Amino acid sequence: LSAQPLPTPQDSSSVFGTLVVIRDTTQEQLSRTAGADFVMQVSHELKTPLASIVAYAELLMGDDGADPGLHIEAVNVIHDEAQRMAGLINNLLNIAKIDAGTTALKRQRVHLHDLLVDAFESQRQGALGQGLDFRIDVPPNLGAAALDKDLFRIALNNLLSNAIKYNQPGGFIALSAEEEGDQTLVIRIRDGGIGIPADQVERIFDKYYRVADNRSDSRPGAAARKGHGLGLHLVRQIIDLHQGSITVQSTPGQGSEFCIRVRKLAAVYEEALPA
Ligand code: ADP
Repeated sequence: LSAQPLPTPQDSSSVFGTLVVIRDTTQEQLSRTAGADFVMQVSHELKTPLASIVAYAELLMGDDGADPGLHIEAVNVIHDEAQRMAGLINNLLNIAKIDAGTTALKRQRVHLHDLLVDAFESQRQGALGQGLDFRIDVPPNLGAAALDKDLFRIALNNLLSNAIKYNQPGGFIALSAEEEGDQTLVIRIRDGGIGIPADQVERIFDKYYRVADNRSDSRPGAAARKGHGLGLHLVRQIIDLHQGSITVQSTPGQGSEFCIRVRKLAAVYEEALPA
């Protein structure tokens, strides 16, 4: 809140009124606090996996090969922790670029079938041994869209990895896609996971937002449900940049469905864009 005396138009030294400016800084303060907390949290999140990478690397350096089990364990831990760090850093860099407005979409002609199958397969491979049922239903002749392939792939990866992370024992992950009318492609990522409480569904795309009750995960081989509340924020930004839409429906205890719509590339333009 600030108050300033207003000078008269003729004589700038005398005062005829007061201008009161009210600016609500609550939101700014909140995001500053969230920002500072976030830097602390991210530093911590990076230090913890780094510490185990260093510890296991040192173990390997002193290893005489007598215990092959130790070797396998060390390599697995180093790989998983490094992957997690890389994921966090990539999300952060992409969000910073999009926030700064320096992301120019490199649109190309993308046949969604190949991109979807690719993303699905790599996530499935990463989750082998978790006892989840993976289903895919994407017609081979599904149309093309003008997408930034790398960014779109990041959005798919974030949604699929959440479907795995927030799943539950014996749950499923289903990826499907279809044409809707002759202008739209719809991609659905469904899971039979823990779901999202109704009063929080609206907020999950907010930066840093995490559902308070990310219940512990008892599935064998499942990574802990750690996170930073950045994945879905980035997904939304990427879909917005593509002028697409994303919606979510969820039932706690039963699962969630994320649904992306993008514009289908009209056949006449198919040849015009680089593949
Ligand atoms: P993170 O997973 O790092 O916490 P996200 O931005 O990807 O961040 O997700 C935000 C929150 O939305 C998560 O903390 C989780 O509570 C919830 N969420 C996201 N995807 C799912 C899902 N498929 N099932 C249940 N909850 C989900």
